[in-house]
Amino acid sequence: MRILKATPMQFETRAVHCGVHKDAAYNSCITPIYPSSTFAWDDLKTNRGFDYTRSGNPTRQALEENIASLEGGIDCKATSTGMSAITATMHLFQPGDHIIAGHDIYGGTYRLFANVFSAMGMTFSFVNMGDPQNVEQALTPQTKGIWIETPSNPLLNIVEIAAITKIAKRQGCVTIADNTFLSPYLQRPFEHGVDIVIHSTTKYLNGHSDVVGGCIVTQHEPHKERIAYIVNALGLACSPFDAWLVLRGIKTLGPRMEAHQRGAMAIARMLDSHPGVERVYYPGLETHPGHALAKRQQNGFGAMLSFDIAGGRPAAERFFSKIQLFALAESLGGVESLIEYPESMSHASMTAAARKEAGISEKTIRVSVGIEHPDDLIADLRQALESSIAVASDRPTF
Ligand SMILES: *Cc1c(COP(=O)(O)O)cnc(C)c1O
Repeated sequence: MRILKATPMQFETRAVHCGVHKDAAYNSCITPIYPSSTFAWDDLKTNRGFDYTRSGNPTRQALEENIASLEGGIDCKATSTGMSAITATMHLFQPGDHIIAGHDIYGGTYRLFANVFSAMGMTFSFVNMGDPQNVEQALTPQTKGIWIETPSNPLLNIVEIAAITKIAKRQGCVTIADNTFLSPYLQRPFEHGVDIVIHSTTKYLNGHSDVVGGCIVTQHEPHKERIAYIVNALGLACSPFDAWLVLRGIKTLGPRMEAHQRGAMAIARMLDSHPGVERVYYPGLETHPGHALAKRQQNGFGAMLSFDIAGGRPAAERFFSKIQLFALAESLGGVESLIEYPESMSHASMTAAARKEAGISEKTIRVSVGIEHPDDLIADLRQALESSIAVASDRPTF
């Protein structure tokens, strides 16, 4: 088995090598898949580090070592989905505890908090975290956790992580950051004082739209122990095959993110000057209210963007009927570009009032920019936008 020297290595090098070299038998250059559900003991006291795959598996552990290194944590647990990572993390809390979250967090997280954990006796405040004052004001003596998601979904609002963790430290509560939208290549919440980082690895970490998965990265010993206990007790770990696929995807994370955000920047600039578009939400544009903060806090602007189409729902319907290269699909972070309509797709599980509060309307269109050539993506968006305007302007007016 090849043991790498412990010299500090750059991010891209760790993405390729951390956790990977696990084959003592044949020295294979990639991590073997160990589908075995159980592992034999040598005698009544000794096993070789694994006994049962729900509790631990060599292929899954390779992935966990890799992600822990990229985020800068002490441990990682890889789970079956992003939602199971969130479910595990929420089990750090108890009935009676109060948790503060952004009002524009991922729709599935909102649903889990508002409809499942609320029914179990936890209470939640959903606030606009763009202003840390709102978090300060929502604090109660029962506040035990603050849930941070930045940039937000789908409007790419930026939360100042360090300002929130400062408030949390004063209060003595745990901060958790969902880092799915940027990946550790572009943002490392631990460097801003966060206690726990979670991901939907379904998105950029795997990057190829062929796995659902999640992970929880910890940096304090008590959290490491408790999360490992919970993931095993609730049975939330991911399969060895899924772990292997995500580890394979992660090796190209750096170069993929560069290609993703090159395309996103070019598209944002085109949309920004297009008459068929009312407003673009992309932190890379100087006009975005979170631009300066994103520049400080992140290592890049990412590849998620949204825009408001001129002409509302009828224009959106014409636009979606013409778009070709972008698949009309939820999810994000894969090499292929996706486009979707939050109102009836990704954010349909929010109430209309909650959507309005978060700024999502019938004009809002969300794009996950893939790694195709930007010129082709721009040409496709242009032709779909032009036909939406053309029909709009020769409509009869009564
Ligand atoms: C997709 C997503 C999740 C949920 O992950 P699944 O893998 O779909 O369970 C959570 N948070 C964010 C920000 C996401 O984009």
